[in-house]
Amino acid sequence: MSLAREKLKFARRIVIKVGTSTLAHGESGKLNLYRIEHLIREIADLRNAGKEIIFVTSGAIAAGIGKMNLKSKPETIPENQALAAIGQGVLMHIYEKFFAEYGLTMGQILLTKDNATDEHARENCKNSLMAILRMGAIPVINENDAVAVDEIKIGDNDNLSAIVAVMVNAEVLIILTDIDGLYDGNPKVDSNAKLIREVEKISEEVEQMAGGAGTKLGTGGMFTKIQAAKLTTRNKIPTVIVSGREIGNLRKVLSGEEIGTIFNS
Ligand code: GLU
Repeated sequence: MSLAREKLKFARRIVIKVGTSTLAHGESGKLNLYRIEHLIREIADLRNAGKEIIFVTSGAIAAGIGKMNLKSKPETIPENQALAAIGQGVLMHIYEKFFAEYGLTMGQILLTKDNATDEHARENCKNSLMAILRMGAIPVINENDAVAVDEIKIGDNDNLSAIVAVMVNAEVLIILTDIDGLYDGNPKVDSNAKLIREVEKISEEVEQMAGGAGTKLGTGGMFTKIQAAKLTTRNKIPTVIVSGREIGNLRKVLSGEEIGTIFNS
């Protein structure tokens, strides 16, 4: 086991980000309740083991689309804002229910870019996050998509999760996604593409591997995950990109198992 992986066993303050591709069914776009329930159970168990968890979740717009029985994301910004408003409630209702089943309390925080760039706002936001943690509750964070338009938008939750990780001095950021980690090619089209287990430094070559893309419902793709890892590793926070499809991966990462891709700090 590498030293970087070994250290993850001792991480106490952990930011976990989960993407829409993990939270929703690919075909129907409806929420994947089986996966959400297992994920929350795993988070609750980590909390019981004495870890501090900060949970960054996408999926609001997807949940809104499902709730309103639409087939895809609408074209206009106001309609997407409306779906975010509708879906955020749906999502929180489900999280709250699952956390409560395991005896835990959550507190929702919705951020915009200002919270990340303005020093005063950042400090206020940090204070609120820390108070939620001190109360033993779990902060659940998303971007405030119902009011944020381009100028005040971070735009994707990978970067948002990195900003949060830096804000709370996390010991690790774990990004759960629909792929096993960073590959040296595109595994969807190239069967020889290999999973990279460990990245020492985010070089240009590594950035090129990330490509673009994302899914029908999600925003990020690998590109924004690498951007996020650049910010965290610069701030001495190791970051792991790992599949959120398999149940138990969070626990495996935090036991030092060699799954996903770790970006060393
Ligand atoms: N904040 C968006 C949502 O909740 C997701 C952004 C992202 O997928 O990165 O739908």
